[in-house]
Amino acid sequence: MSLSLNQSNAALVRRSLESVWHPCTQMKRHETLPLVPIAKAEGVWLYDFEGRRYLDGVSSWWVNLFGHGHPHIKTALVAQLDQLDHIMLAGFTHEPVVELSEKLGQLTGLGHAFYASDGASATEIALKMSAHYWRNTGRPEKCRFVGLAGGYHGETVGALAVTDIALFREAYAPLVRLAATVPSPDARTAEPGESAVDVARRAAGALETWLQQHHAGTAALIVEPLVQCAAGMAMHDASYLKWVRALCDRYEVHLVVDEIATGFGRTGTMFAHQQAGILPDFICLSKGLTGGTLPLSAVLTTDTVYQAFYDDDVARGFLHSHSYTGNPLACRAALATLELFEHNDVLARNITLAQSISQAFAPLTAHARIQNARQLGMIWAWDVDTASPSFSRRYQQHAMAHGVLLRPIGNTIYAMPPYVMDDDKAAHLAQGALAALETTLAEENTNG
Ligand SMILES: *Cc1c(COP(=O)(O)O)cnc(C)c1O
Repeated sequence: MSLSLNQSNAALVRRSLESVWHPCTQMKRHETLPLVPIAKAEGVWLYDFEGRRYLDGVSSWWVNLFGHGHPHIKTALVAQLDQLDHIMLAGFTHEPVVELSEKLGQLTGLGHAFYASDGASATEIALKMSAHYWRNTGRPEKCRFVGLAGGYHGETVGALAVTDIALFREAYAPLVRLAATVPSPDARTAEPGESAVDVARRAAGALETWLQQHHAGTAALIVEPLVQCAAGMAMHDASYLKWVRALCDRYEVHLVVDEIATGFGRTGTMFAHQQAGILPDFICLSKGLTGGTLPLSAVLTTDTVYQAFYDDDVARGFLHSHSYTGNPLACRAALATLELFEHNDVLARNITLAQSISQAFAPLTAHARIQNARQLGMIWAWDVDTASPSFSRRYQQHAMAHGVLLRPIGNTIYAMPPYVMDDDKAAHLAQGALAALETTLAEENTNG
């Protein structure tokens, strides 16, 4: 019996390597790095075909909030499937999309929810809406964008323009209409004696200098509020966002906050920008929106922006669309996810939960080779003092051997677990994270 399971495990890997082009992967790596077949998932656990289980320490690329197969979301999805699977949203409407749009409006203070299926498309929509707004208001020259150093906003050609990660962009540089970048307020860049607020002020000063020169041709600034996740969980002080809001007002540039990774409680508040008490012009949402069950993204904006498109002239409208825009199943999953926040007082409970997870991580945080240990809400990150270019890959493999899914970015180990952890799971995650670090570093010593 276990032999046949074994065989199906290996067979599935072989068939996958022959038929599937996996994302974010140099496929040749899989000659040595084993691809992991997952048979099922429940709560925080992923199970392979041999019954081994792994704690999902990165919430499956930051999308899963309440564990896999949450009964409340499942029940809502099944009921929705019985009622209405899909209908095009141009010319038609349905309950889940209306309810979700109302709910997102209440939560953010912005409205007119526009939908797509992935984060990169949300970025594209926000950028297109911003530039089109300026065109509709008689200022078509305001059509360029500015982002932060190390920013990540997705990988379609339009989104790559504001994604400042060379490895993702270099090969496509000729296709991309590159945006400008201004310095990141990353608190790790503090000079001796500088606080995180000082770094934020310095970065805001650099933005101001840039805007003084370029505001006339600039439609929008796009930022990941509080945490630049893909850059390696680079965190900044909330004061940066206040300065940024003031500068965008003064220089008449839209402020787009990309909450795709930081939204839905990840940083401690429902949305990260709310910690700065500001209202952006656009908010991009995705990832946690459906609790990690179905692809869905949304862009919310102001009445002012919406009204600039409202006209007898078709061409002044926002004529963007995707086949699955506002899919009822995905919207229903999002509504069920938001209900879980309300019913279970999640934000308040996460404060206590984060404290006990931080305690479990204390030995890792205290490790001699760890620098810049940092935490915000349900995000933890540690920079490892290593020069090994293969650190991330080897660490991930050792972590899997210890029953945890952790996937460092460069030499930054991070954890972004689902919100349904308890003390035992925290201990398992933290022990696995530390053991994997020790094994990975020991390997480097042996290899000289
Ligand atoms: C993941 C991510 C995106 C892109 O979302 P996809 O669904 O992967 O296209 C955009 N912005 C941020 C901040 C992200 O973390």
